[in-house]
Amino acid sequence: MTNKTPELLAPAGSLEKLKVSLLYGADAVYCGGQKFGLRAAADNLTYDELREGVEFAHQLDKKVYVVLNSFLHDSDLEQLPEFISFLEEIQIDAVIVSDPGVIKTVKENSQIDIHLSTQASCLNTHAAKIWKSWGVKRLILGREVSIEEAGAIKKSSGLEVELFIHGSMCMAYSGNCVISNYTQGRDSNRGGCAHSCRFEYSVDFKNWESVETRKAYFMSSKDLNGIALLEEFARHGIDSVKIEGRMKSSLYAGSVSKVYREALDYYKEKGHFYSEQMKDWEAEMNKFSHRAYTEASLVEKAGEDSIFDERQSALSQDYVSAAEVVEAIEGEHILLQVRKAFVPGDELELLPFRGPAVKLNSEKILDISNQEIEKTRPTTLVKVPYTKGAQELNIVRKKSYAANNLL
Ligand code: SF4
Repeated sequence: MTNKTPELLAPAGSLEKLKVSLLYGADAVYCGGQKFGLRAAADNLTYDELREGVEFAHQLDKKVYVVLNSFLHDSDLEQLPEFISFLEEIQIDAVIVSDPGVIKTVKENSQIDIHLSTQASCLNTHAAKIWKSWGVKRLILGREVSIEEAGAIKKSSGLEVELFIHGSMCMAYSGNCVISNYTQGRDSNRGGCAHSCRFEYSVDFKNWESVETRKAYFMSSKDLNGIALLEEFARHGIDSVKIEGRMKSSLYAGSVSKVYREALDYYKEKGHFYSEQMKDWEAEMNKFSHRAYTEASLVEKAGEDSIFDERQSALSQDYVSAAEVVEAIEGEHILLQVRKAFVPGDELELLPFRGPAVKLNSEKILDISNQEIEKTRPTTLVKVPYTKGAQELNIVRKKSYAANNLL
């Protein structure tokens, strides 16, 4: 057993979210290009954005992994070498791959490190050793593997292991699912998941005499939350803990990265997680949109109680994203880009990159011509009085009094 502090790996569904995740404490981010990934609905990054994102991360001594985890047809493979050459030129730190054909193409065209996607459902040592012989450096193990099993696979295979610690989960074996193909004509394994497992379904239970119809959300999983198990991750030598959510908001990416960063830093300093702050970290996890939480299979196999059998509208969150700091001029004002409309007097909080959230003075809001306004509109720029510590790309959140959508 080792007690190494794991890498914190966060989602980067866009260039902005890449910067937000890193500034709020992630050691590395994973993102997709315009093709070959499994999140067709995420913003994904253009060639220029990928280049800028890698430069930004490397300046902070952090890493960027690019997702190439679609299962490809021969015609798709033809276009891959050019993209791989580009990724090598901009010095990305690894690619995340599921398809052996993609692994072969990456190896033939570059020296880029290869991480095996969770989509490949690696769950045991024999499989791990095969992937190793094919040139894989790190395994992103299936969510069905416990922390203890992951530690054992690392030890016996000699490979790095990465395990999900937070976020939404598939009810299928790590995404190997075709429900969306049948219900929506969209292929999950080529980036088109329509979240069909979140819908309400009805089932007819028949016997000789009667038919009973039951409606239920019986395929929708609760969200993973492993904050209370961080010590186990460290004890079993897990190299990287991963936060799910490339399609979620900057508020989510920044907030979750911040909580895990604080917890991991505490561990690095003290050598344990027995902290009074655990309550604060757990409370922070409730301040953004999420389904009910579960530890899924991190310790024992996930059972019936890992199903989120409520409507999507039952998602809970204490805060919604209100704005993002564009510029902070000390002693004068903070320039904000509005995400969700707010009015003077709303309960706004600034989330600094380090340390607790601070109240943001929103009594007087000005537009960019310095005219006082009664209500903000999404995407516009507004000014509020300066609050100490505000920095570009800080998130501003607003107290929410109602359940909202997840994204
Ligand atoms: S429909 Fe649900 S189970 Fe299937 S791939 Fe999408 S999220 Fe996973």
